[in-house]
Amino acid sequence: MFGLGLPELSILIFVLAIIFLVPIWSARVASSKGRSPILWFFIGLFFSLFGVLAAYLSPVRADGVKYIKCRYCGEPIRSEAIVCKHCGRDL
Ligand SMILES: [Zn+2]
Repeated sequence: MFGLGLPELSILIFVLAIIFLVPIWSARVASSKGRSPILWFFIGLFFSLFGVLAAYLSPVRADGVKYIKCRYCGEPIRSEAIVCKHCGRDL
């Protein structure tokens, strides 16, 4: 045989994509809830889909503050904010 054929190669790319996309997915879910995307990236890396599930199940940060997404930059901000702390635009 000639080493990696096309089927093996596409499986390899698929597996690598999952390894890198799952942590990004859990980081995005976590950051939409006002949690640390970096921490949740590693949780997704180590626990794979369980990390994503945990990110979905985790409540919005439990300090009594509601977070919404900034409509300009997409970062989580306090719902009562009038200026985005990430991009500085008026809301
Ligand atoms: Zn913003």
